[in-house]
Amino acid sequence: MGESVRQLAREARRVMRQGPEAIEQQQRVHLAELVAYARAHSPYYRELYQDLPDGVDDLALLPVTNKKKLMSRFDDWATDREVTREKVEAFVADPDLAGHRFLGRYLVATTSGTSGLRGLFVIDDRYQAVHTALGSRVGGVMGARDLIRMITRAGRTAIVSAPGGHFFTVAGAARFRLDHPRLGRLTRVFSIHQPLPELVAELNRYNPANLAGFLSMITMLAGEQEAGRLRIHPAIVIPGGETLTEDVRKRIATTFQATVRAAYAATECGFLGLGCAHDWYHVASDWAAVEPVDTDYRPVPPGQPSHTVLLSNLANRVQPILRYDLGDSVLLRPNPCPCGSPFPAIRVQGRAADMLTFPTGRGEHVSISPMLFGTALDRVTGVERFQVVQTAPTTLRVRLQPSAGADADRVWQAVRDEITHLLTEHKADHVTLERAEEPPQQSPGGKYRRIIPLT
Ligand SMILES: [Zn+2]
Repeated sequence: MGESVRQLAREARRVMRQGPEAIEQQQRVHLAELVAYARAHSPYYRELYQDLPDGVDDLALLPVTNKKKLMSRFDDWATDREVTREKVEAFVADPDLAGHRFLGRYLVATTSGTSGLRGLFVIDDRYQAVHTALGSRVGGVMGARDLIRMITRAGRTAIVSAPGGHFFTVAGAARFRLDHPRLGRLTRVFSIHQPLPELVAELNRYNPANLAGFLSMITMLAGEQEAGRLRIHPAIVIPGGETLTEDVRKRIATTFQATVRAAYAATECGFLGLGCAHDWYHVASDWAAVEPVDTDYRPVPPGQPSHTVLLSNLANRVQPILRYDLGDSVLLRPNPCPCGSPFPAIRVQGRAADMLTFPTGRGEHVSISPMLFGTALDRVTGVERFQVVQTAPTTLRVRLQPSAGADADRVWQAVRDEITHLLTEHKADHVTLERAEEPPQQSPGGKYRRIIPLT
C-alpha cells in the first residue's frame, strides 16, 4: 500500500495538469493493478475472470457485476480472508462502533438501498487516502476570498445528516475524528431528526465554513437563511445525494453567498465526481471509471442518456468494485467543458429505477423522468420539500411540506397545476393526483426520495 496521501496528491495534481491522455493512462495503470490484485486474492473475481488473459487493462473485457451478486458472495468477494459477512454484520449491529476500525484496519459503511437491498461495504486505508488526495485538486478552483473566509473560520465543517448507524457520511466523519482528534473537532454531524428551529440554532452557533448534506436538506436550510432565521456564512456548500439543477444551484449560491460544489458520490466510491460551475460533474477518472451503458451493457454514445452506469473504484482493494451496475442514468458530455476541467463531464439523470411508468390503457406505457418533476416543482414558490409517490398504476400521491409562512392550499394548487401540465405533456393526463395529509417521509438513510415509483 505504501503510498502516502502526500504522494498520491502530488500524483493526482500532476496528471490533472498533463491533461486527458495522462489521466486515461493513469486509469489503465490503476485498473491493471486492481484487476491483478482481485484475481490473486478474491475467490469471486478469480472465478469471474478465469477466462480472461493476463494483464487486463481494458475495462470492456471485464464481466459486469452488481450489488446483489457481490452481497450474495460476500465472503468470496473480499480480498482479505478475514472479512466475512458474519463479522461485518456483528460490527454494524453496534451503532457505537461507527467509524471505528473493523478488524483493526477497515472502515465499514452501510447503504439503506433504495432498491430494498442493503449494502455492506468495507473500505481500506487506500480508498480513504485517495479520497483525501483527490480533495487537494479542489483547492485550485476556490477563489482567494473563499480561502480567506475558510481560514478565518478555521475550516469548520458541518455535515447535516441522519445520526447514528454506519452510513458512509456518519461513519466517515466519526473515523476522521478518531484519526485526527485535533482536526476532528472541526467536523460535526448535525442531526436532521431534530426540530428545524433547533437545527438552525445549532448551526448559527457553530457558524461552519463548509456545509455538506443531502440536497433536500440544504435546500430547506437555504429557505431558513432566506427567511433570516439561519445566519451562517459558509464559503463552500456541498450538496449530495440528488441531481442539482441549475436553478437550485444558483439559489443556494446566492442565498449563502458561497461556492456550491455538488458531489456525485456513492458509498461504493465516495470520490466519484465533483460539480463544476457549468453544472457538470467531473469524474475523477484516474481513480474511478464511469461507463454509460444501455440495458444490455453496451456503451451509450456521448450526448445520450444511458440506462445505467458501470462504476469501477480503482482505489479500494479489500472489496474491489469493478464494472459494477450502479443504476444511475448518466449523460456524458460530448465536447470539452467550458470550465476547462480535463476530466470527463457527466450529468446524472437520476436512477433509472426512479422512472415513473404509467399504462396508457392502449397496451402501451409512458415513462417520465424523475428529473422533470424536480424541474417543474422547483419552480413553485413555497415548496420546502415534496415527494411524489406512485400508489397505484395511474395514481400519484403528492406529499408536500410548504415553507414557513406559505399558504398550504395555494402551494398545493400550484403544485397540482405543474404536475398536471407535465402529465398532459407526456400524454399521461389520465393519471389521478392525490393530496397527501402526511408530510414527505425519510428513508432509513435520512434521504428524502423525491419520486417513489410503484414497486
Ligand atoms: Zn465543467
